Amino acid sequence: MAVAVEAEKLTKQYHDKSALEDVSFTVPRGSALGLVGPNGAGKSTLLRMMLGVSRPTSGRILYDGQPLWPDPDRAMDAVGGFVDAPQFYPYFTARENLAMLAELRRLKPGRVDEVLRYVHLEQEDHRKVGGFSHGMRQRLGIAAALLKQPGLLILDEPQDGLDPARLEEMRRLILRIRQDLAPTIIMSSHVLQDIERLCDRIAVFDRGRLLYCGPTGGLGTPQGDEVIWELRPIELALSHLTSLGLEVRAMGDGRVATFWDDSLELGSVNVSLIKAGITIRTVMRGSASLESRLLRYLEDDHVDMR
Ligand code: ADP
Repeated sequence: MAVAVEAEKLTKQYHDKSALEDVSFTVPRGSALGLVGPNGAGKSTLLRMMLGVSRPTSGRILYDGQPLWPDPDRAMDAVGGFVDAPQFYPYFTARENLAMLAELRRLKPGRVDEVLRYVHLEQEDHRKVGGFSHGMRQRLGIAAALLKQPGLLILDEPQDGLDPARLEEMRRLILRIRQDLAPTIIMSSHVLQDIERLCDRIAVFDRGRLLYCGPTGGLGTPQGDEVIWELRPIELALSHLTSLGLEVRAMGDGRVATFWDDSLELGSVNVSLIKAGITIRTVMRGSASLESRLLRYLEDDHVDMR
């Protein structure tokens, strides 16, 4: 598969601190790469470099074989998106904001209508952006990014701060973009379920270092099932399962997860839980989630994902 983005030994130094250290990876054209890692890991720094607003201290980043630095304008026509939050003039309407951008980029005026319709903001086009909800502003940010039909779409926490209904709307919009326009997407997110649903690749960062970059399915071994129980009382349940030789993880919401290797029989484990006076509210067996695989992968690095 053709390579869209290639980073070679990228480093970004702020005074004596490395925000990114010797980071190399490739992203195949048309794929969606999700960046994950704790706050301060370097995700936004990387996205800023790709949007041409932060210069690498050393190393190279290429889009379509063209280095984005030292002359980001050259490749920038193909890159759209936002870092932190999309910025607009609050006293101008959605349409006026997009029209200014379209004019700056010498795009045909009809493009503004197309992108407003695409993100379902055509009914709100004459409202001032200052009065927009957070979700509407995020969608307008995506509309602005789509104006020039980018080959590479950069999204920094596009789901951040959205309520559940708006969150689902944003997920559907990103999936629609992937399906209709097939750009290469690089997005950061703290929501691993979203990375699993929206992206086919994942890059795991910690303190400026890239720990893993590849298919989401390839992260962590072994592949296989996990069992998740909802049990009460939780402390007794954890010690009982541990006494059976299971490596368990409390998920913080009253659920307990373990990778399942079939050395024990699930039915017998459930019976022993009940005999020990533990209430089983739910039990679920299925493919190990990205979250579980990532946490196991990070165990050796002692990385706190919050
Ligand atoms: P993330 O997006 O993963 O939360 P960032 O890329 O924002 O991480 O930050 C990586 C590191 O670089 C952090 O330690 C942060 O404090 C530092 N950093 C980011 N931008 C600047 C800046 N403009 N000046 C100094 N340090 C910065």
